[in-house]
Amino acid sequence: MPKTWFYHVVMNRSEAPDALQRDLAPVEQLLSSTFLQVTEIFAQILRNRAGTKFSTFEERQAAAHQIGRILESISMRCRCTTCGEPAILKAVRAGNSKHGVFQFDHTRGRRSSHSGSVDLPLIELVPEPKDGRKK
Ligand SMILES: [Zn+2]
Repeated sequence: MPKTWFYHVVMNRSEAPDALQRDLAPVEQLLSSTFLQVTEIFAQILRNRAGTKFSTFEERQAAAHQIGRILESISMRCRCTTCGEPAILKAVRAGNSKHGVFQFDHTRGRRSSHSGSVDLPLIELVPEPKDGRKK
């Protein structure tokens, strides 16, 4: 579909607003179906990989960063496993765990963070809060 649509867009130049609207509609369709597909695949991988074990802080941090980059690009957050608030997954050196732990940093709520776990926690995707606060 996108290929023929693109051909149509290039070949049929028109200055009418309805032509613009008609041409842009498939772009919106493509975006929303891609978004749904990406979100579904990402959620499934996170479910499958919950419990992944890490032996160093760096490994833990790299995983948190990679998950964070994907969350950011689809405007989603993960649900804190303790309180359910939208959060960002971080690897922190905390307590007596030599190689760090995962932590949920909230973007809102009373507490700024809740401790997750040593292994990769079960991450559920939630929409980014719309209050404008970002972390
Ligand atoms: Zn929490």
